[in-house]
This record gives sequence, C-alpha cells and structure tokens, in this order.
Amino acid sequence: MTAVHNFNAGPSILPKSVFEEASKAVLNFNDTGLSILEIGHRTSIFQAVMDEARALVKELMQLDDDHEVLFLHGGASTQFMQVPMNLLDDKETAAFTDTGVWSTKAIKEAKLFGKVEIVCSSKEANFTYIPKDFAVPNDAKYLHITTNNTIYGTQWQNIPKTSNSLVADMSSDIFSRVLDFNTFDLIYAGAQKNMGPAGVNLVVVNKNILGKVKRTIPTIMDYRNHIKEGSMLNTPPVFAVYVCMLTLRWLKAQGGVAVIEKLNNEKAAFLYTAIDDNPLFTGTVNKEDRSKMNVCFVMNDTSLEESFLRFTKEQGIVGIKGHRLVGGFRASLYNALPLSSVKVLTQAMHEFALQKA
Ligand SMILES: *Cc1c(COP(=O)(O)O)cnc(C)c1O
Repeated sequence: MTAVHNFNAGPSILPKSVFEEASKAVLNFNDTGLSILEIGHRTSIFQAVMDEARALVKELMQLDDDHEVLFLHGGASTQFMQVPMNLLDDKETAAFTDTGVWSTKAIKEAKLFGKVEIVCSSKEANFTYIPKDFAVPNDAKYLHITTNNTIYGTQWQNIPKTSNSLVADMSSDIFSRVLDFNTFDLIYAGAQKNMGPAGVNLVVVNKNILGKVKRTIPTIMDYRNHIKEGSMLNTPPVFAVYVCMLTLRWLKAQGGVAVIEKLNNEKAAFLYTAIDDNPLFTGTVNKEDRSKMNVCFVMNDTSLEESFLRFTKEQGIVGIKGHRLVGGFRASLYNALPLSSVKVLTQAMHEFALQKA
C-alpha cells in the first residue's frame, strides 16, 4: 500500500501512535483483560482516564483555577444552543461576529434564547476575510467569535480585545497555537478536527459566569451540574474521551502547544508559498487572514481541477476536495499531519504545473 496523506477537514488525521494504542485498548485495556469499550465509567481505571484528560487540557492551555474543563456529548453544534441557554437571558443581547457557516448556525441558535447583535460580517465577500473594525455594545452579555473558519479557510490572527465576556468556537484550531486562554470565559470545540475522534466536545468555562440567568436549565444542559460531577453527570463518551487523552499525551510529548504551533506555521507557510508561486493555483482568502489549519485554493482554469484531483490521488493524497461552498481544494493541516505530507502535496502541484506548461 502506498503511503496515505490525509488532509481531511474533519473527522481528520490523528497521530499514528494514538491509533495503535487505542486499538490495543479495544482488545485489552491496561492489562485488565477488558476492552475499553466494556468497562464502567465509574470504575477507577476510567476515572483515571478522565482525570488525566482534564488535567492535560488545563496544563496544555495553562488555565487558571477559575476555568473548568468538561468533556460533553453532542458536538460543537450542541454548544451553539447550550452556550446561550446558560449565559443569555431573554432580554439580554449577545454580540456575534459573522465569519462563516458555523457562526451563522451559532447565531441562529442564540436567537432562541435572547437577543443577538451581529457586530460584523464578511458575508458580502463569501467570508473571504476577517472583519477588523467593529464595535461591541457595552451591555452585550458576551462576544462570540469562531477562531478558525474551517470551511472558508480564514482565522482570527489577533483575538479581538473586548471588555465583554469572550466566547469562542475553537473546533478547528484548538491546541494548534498559543493564546491566552484565560481571557476567554467560554471555549468550546468538537473533538474531531484537532483533538480526537468524533463524539465528544471540549468545553472550558470560567465558573464565575455561570448561574446568572433566570431561566430553568434542564439538568443535562446546565454546565454547573457537569462541573459538580466532574464531567460524569451521565455516561460520558468513554472511548472518545480516552482517544482525546491519548492525543493530548502525544501533544505534550511533542513539547506542547508552542512547539506544535511552530510546526503548524511552517507547514502553512510551505503550502501557501507553493500556491502563490504556482501559476495554476490561487488562494481564496485575504492573505493576512489565511488559516494555518484549513488552506483553501482554486485553479485558475477550473476545468483542470478534476484531473488534478486524480493526479494527487495517485500519490496517496486524500481529503483535498474543497467544500461545495468554496469549490476547488481545501487542505487541512491539523497537528498530526506531518510536514512530509505537505511536501508531497506541494511537489504534486509543482509536477502538475510542469505537465501543463
Ligand atoms: C466542524 C465544526 C463545527 C460543527 O461540529 P459538530 O461537532 O459537527 O457539531 C462547529 N464549528 C466549527 C468551527 C467547526 O469546524
């Protein structure tokens, strides 16, 4: 079998060593003679997994004691609803930045719970840039941003400074770069882009912002109950949490977020340079807003796109077909993707251009 280079946007590549260890645990978890899939979540052996996963998040993000770490069900899409349910009263306003499909969905759900003010949008330009000049009303309960726009390939290079509470969907760039995570009051991320398998969500929340809304929150939706029960209010997605824990261990062994950020910068620079230098290809977004995680580009002659896809497939390159809303190509460069895979892709672009010259 030729080597596979996995550029999928999500679910996406994870470290090979994580797959190996996880597959062993499916057969015999920590020499217990039991599969990770058949152990109780209240056992001490799983408690140790949950404890380690949460501790690794705290350590890798350098969180202070006000910030609680939760692993919850439901994907990032559930957080579109759960965040305003916990933070926004029906007469209050939440401020939203509208930078793509995922923000738009978050806005729709927030409107079910309170008022929404869209403080900026790049919709008129098919979300090809990150808005810079906007004002947030002082009385807005929180400002919501999507730190990386997975579909369009834009990323906030500078997190907006605001006196309001800051809430972020970090699904597709969590653990990819160093930020001052304590400046956020709430961060959520579906695991399947850069942290683990599908089926679990990471929520990091400043506990001081909870308990301020008047509505009655259903038990399973109330973050405070999950905090009280140590993320084990009900049966957690045991296997997904386990694989996240292994991935976070791997990240720590690489040297942590600062080290992986350097590598991510290198990978992204390598690919963007190849796009800019190649007469056949064009990047689709504003240069200063380019995502280091999801690189979107098109061919100047779109009739060549099918044949370029076939050409790359022969080299083991998978997952680069662009999202239907953007077209062309999207190469996702998540933490576990090695620089060598990026080099295989840029080499293919180069060779294809020579063939067509
Ligand atoms: C993928 C993605 C989502 C949706 O995640 P689900 O887990 O499928 O609900 C939300 N926000 C961003 C930024 C994403 O990339």
